[in-house]
Amino acid sequence: MDSLERTFCSRCSKYVGKHHREIVEPGEIAGRPVCEQCYEAEILRIAEDEMAAVALASCSYCGKKALGRVSTFDMIIGGPGDQFACDSCQQEYHRFLLEYLDAMNAELLELDRATQLEAVRQIYDETEAHMQQWVRQRDN
Ligand SMILES: [Zn+2]
Ligand SMILES: [Zn+2]
Repeated sequence: MDSLERTFCSRCSKYVGKHHREIVEPGEIAGRPVCEQCYEAEILRIAEDEMAAVALASCSYCGKKALGRVSTFDMIIGGPGDQFACDSCQQEYHRFLLEYLDAMNAELLELDRATQLEAVRQIYDETEAHMQQWVRQRDN
């Protein structure tokens, strides 16, 4: 099926055609069409923004300098979104999460969507609780 729909770059309004690039801004779900030039510029800008945000952030768990985001759940439950972690906390966070998910994987797949979401929320809460406790132990 050939559509006559014309797509224009959302930045410079240049005609980009059907096979355009798309930019997804942090916090947005749907992408916006952009031309090749604007795509390059946007990717760079988003990467720089992210680096600047991480450089300014401190770890959400222990307050040390952040290394990156831990945002596994944000997409699923629309969580706080701005959780940063230092190297050490990031490793523990992922270790705990993987172990937890491994243990309940089969079980989780049997559940319906609403119950799954509830379960994910619970994992989120327990991961947060675990991290607080773990940091207290590590730093003592
Ligand atoms: Zn453009
Ligand atoms: Zn930390």
